[in-house]
Amino acid sequence: MKITCLNLSLQIASIRQELEKAMGKTIEHCTFCLGPDVIDFEQQFARFCNVQHAVAVNSGTSALHLALRLLCIGPGDEVITTPYTFASTSWAISYMGARPVYVDIEDSTFNIDAAQVEKAITPKTKAILPVHLYGLPCSLSHLLKVASAHSLPLVEDAAQAHGGIYRGRKVGSFGTLSCFSFHPAKNLGAFGEGGAILTNDATLAARARSLREHGTKQRYYHNEIGYNYRMEGLQAAVLCVKLKHLTAWIKGRRRVAELYSQMLADVPLRLPIEPQGCRSAWHLYTIRHPKRDQLKKFLLQQGIECSIHYPRPLHLQQCYTPLGYRVGDFPVAERASVECLSLPIYPELTGEQIEFVCSQIRHFFLG
Ligand SMILES: *Cc1c(COP(=O)(O)O)cnc(C)c1O
Repeated sequence: MKITCLNLSLQIASIRQELEKAMGKTIEHCTFCLGPDVIDFEQQFARFCNVQHAVAVNSGTSALHLALRLLCIGPGDEVITTPYTFASTSWAISYMGARPVYVDIEDSTFNIDAAQVEKAITPKTKAILPVHLYGLPCSLSHLLKVASAHSLPLVEDAAQAHGGIYRGRKVGSFGTLSCFSFHPAKNLGAFGEGGAILTNDATLAARARSLREHGTKQRYYHNEIGYNYRMEGLQAAVLCVKLKHLTAWIKGRRRVAELYSQMLADVPLRLPIEPQGCRSAWHLYTIRHPKRDQLKKFLLQQGIECSIHYPRPLHLQQCYTPLGYRVGDFPVAERASVECLSLPIYPELTGEQIEFVCSQIRHFFLG
């Protein structure tokens, strides 16, 4: 048996006709940059997250960059964030000339440790930027309390968490701004790049719309220096079709996660958890063990592909040596980076395949 981390062809095959019909319409209308599909997608995605405004852009990285631009973050400012995420969470801070200030993660969830955030606040702090890593909502109520006590905006990096639920509400609806990615490998993926900013603030949304399109409200009149961060019409057409299936797909991911957790319960491994009040979007199912590298190699020999998210925390990346962090500064993140292993997860994974993965893991540990 051969099992890959992700299999998009199965998902595409299941909705191929719908996709081709939607893309055919866009091609007929030649609405390739923004246009009616993008407007439809913005409305539908905003409704899905129960937020008033969605502004679609060309990547999650652009969404994060725009969010910090909207908050007027600049040189000399600090933004508190997690060292244990995909690098682009920190890029947004760096693009604005500000400084990422890292806070270690919780050992149990891989998400930023809300209890340590307050200590990291200085007069230069301008925002808090947590991530819902692997689809699991971070400690939003604690973080929002700290943010409001210090009058700081909270920006959610929800790039991995479409459909994640915190205390009954979708993630992306808690922060002043929240950012999503529609990279093909995410829970909701385009046929290329895509992203979105969500907010309940009409002024911020209007400025985001202008900034994503060269800083214009009226063509060829530039209010401020902007970007070309427009979402493409074809990507929006694909996303409108896929969004209709997202809830069912997340259910499918949950089924995979629950089967893994049942079948691996007696193996000496650390399994992912959902704290009280959190429902993960199960973007990834990430286990932990000190023998991670041997396990990964063994599983690959059995035809099972796993991946490592992430092998090096951001404070130890070469590009961030100027920040002056050292090994040992964030021990929980550092330990996670050598122990984590993400098992294959996607809604179409069969019971038989899941059983095979678990039997091979059991074989590795229990003989
Ligand atoms: C994927 C991802 C991003 C970046 O999104 P792109 O669309 O690839 O630019 C940002 N943050 C996190 C946590 C991500 O997983």
